[in-house]
Amino acid sequence: SRHLELEPSRVTILYAEASDLTRAPLLFADMSEFRKTFSKAKHIAIITGAGVSAESGVPTFRGEHERWRKWQSQDLATPEAFSRFPSRVWEFYHYRRELVLDKKPSAVHLAIAECEARLKKQGRSVVVITQCIDDLHRQAGSKHVLQIHGSLMETRCLSCRQVTVNKRSPVCAALKGTGAPGSDVPDAQIPVDKLPRCDDRDCHGLLRPNVVFFGETLDSHLLTMVEKEIEACDLCLVVGTSSIVYPAAMFGPRVAARGVPVAEFNTNTTPKTEYFMYHFQGPCGTTLPQALAPHESEDI
Ligand SMILES: [Zn+2]
Repeated sequence: SRHLELEPSRVTILYAEASDLTRAPLLFADMSEFRKTFSKAKHIAIITGAGVSAESGVPTFRGEHERWRKWQSQDLATPEAFSRFPSRVWEFYHYRRELVLDKKPSAVHLAIAECEARLKKQGRSVVVITQCIDDLHRQAGSKHVLQIHGSLMETRCLSCRQVTVNKRSPVCAALKGTGAPGSDVPDAQIPVDKLPRCDDRDCHGLLRPNVVFFGETLDSHLLTMVEKEIEACDLCLVVGTSSIVYPAAMFGPRVAARGVPVAEFNTNTTPKTEYFMYHFQGPCGTTLPQALAPHESEDI
């Protein structure tokens, strides 16, 4: 359990060299062994990331080819960027909200939601701990979802701190027709009093997306709930995440440090793969529904 104490508490990207997998886990990609473990698990924690959103066609603006205008999300999703360029950052989030409103849950979202409902009848539990800020896990029917990085479909007032579910399209009149992603599109430069404002008449504060920006800490109440799940689960799945955004990148390794099986489902190995008992390579839309399908031992 080396380096487990180096976990940054603020949301941070730490790139690492691709791991060369110094230890070869015994059960590495053995689906039938995984299925035996799955059939006995009572409390399953499923940690999901951008790869799951990508299954629904939601871009995450993290790769070199996934830019919005000239920027990646880590250039815009910061408190500094919002404070200096609130109009530009709102255009970016307006664009992302409109994209998501258009999308449907994928096979991965549906497999997770179906598994939660099925196992519940057997007295077993599934919790989703997601870094995704879209609403697709809930749309698929997942009930127990911890959105650790917040939600695109919520706003938070900078003055009174009120958090509000907000699925309006557009989020405010001035943003209508803005947010086009092309590299040559100029900023709309919307005056700050025309950006989304608090509905409370006495407040009228500037709203921001209720998402956790890079450099910010996770909500402490939510983090406490995550800690409990990390301590209680007897099987953990890490799905569609490159495991470079902290502190979420350490959740799986911390479960593994307790000796609990952890299975990673991703298109590639990650800097954390070597901590885990299982790694299933490929699009999680292919591997995960197989992994979570009813086991022959289930009484359904
Ligand atoms: Zn307010």
